[in-house]
Amino acid sequence: MKYLLDSHTHTIASGHAYCTVLEMARAAADRGLELLCITDHAPAMEGTTCRDYFANLGVIDRELFGVQIRMGVELNLLDTEGTVDLDEPLLRRTDMAIVSLHTKCIPTGGTAEGYTNGLLQAMKNPYVNIIGHPDDGRYPLDYPTLVRAAADAGVLLEVNNSSLTPGGFRVNGPLHCAEMLRECKKQGVPVVVGSDAHFVSYVGNHQYADALFQELNFPEELVMNRDSAAFLAFLKARRAR
Ligand SMILES: [Zn+2]
Ligand SMILES: [Zn+2]
Repeated sequence: MKYLLDSHTHTIASGHAYCTVLEMARAAADRGLELLCITDHAPAMEGTTCRDYFANLGVIDRELFGVQIRMGVELNLLDTEGTVDLDEPLLRRTDMAIVSLHTKCIPTGGTAEGYTNGLLQAMKNPYVNIIGHPDDGRYPLDYPTLVRAAADAGVLLEVNNSSLTPGGFRVNGPLHCAEMLRECKKQGVPVVVGSDAHFVSYVGNHQYADALFQELNFPEELVMNRDSAAFLAFLKARRAR
């Protein structure tokens, strides 16, 4: 399967990533991607960019080096009630939004019921398009419930290639991701692969996700990266609700 889009990448704006929008777009073009989503961390992440960065996203060309560009955000889930760290006027300026759990922004040690409820509530936010790395053992999740809710809401679950990389810092990423994928396969629910690149060399790196799909015999038609037009339609349908 050819992966034509990368749904999750960071630039220097995130504070702990090292390349510019132009450098990331160039790398995407070099790797033959049709579409690149740039999703810098929202303001609750220590060291990331300011609110005005998101307010001004309109100035960026949405095609660079022949690659379609979508300027998004990686929101932080702040509590088990679904609160995120950008409000509606700024979310409206973004093309898409991922919501993720990060240790700097939400405590670990809670229950699967609590974290799952947080994500279910966040899915009610019409600007949320993707649940980022729902695979971290520090944040247990109820996968049958999460997968069903994502399908109902028109939200995509992410297969995060960084979580699957050997030596990755999330806890038991491959184990939890496989559990989620088995449930997606059972329920016929699509996923999207994001590299979560913080440097140009990782843009479009989907190799560990691809290996896991093969191991699980995961249906190709449930992987959104094979069709960027379908992915864009998915984003649009969600925001039109
Ligand atoms: Zn993240
Ligand atoms: Zn990220």
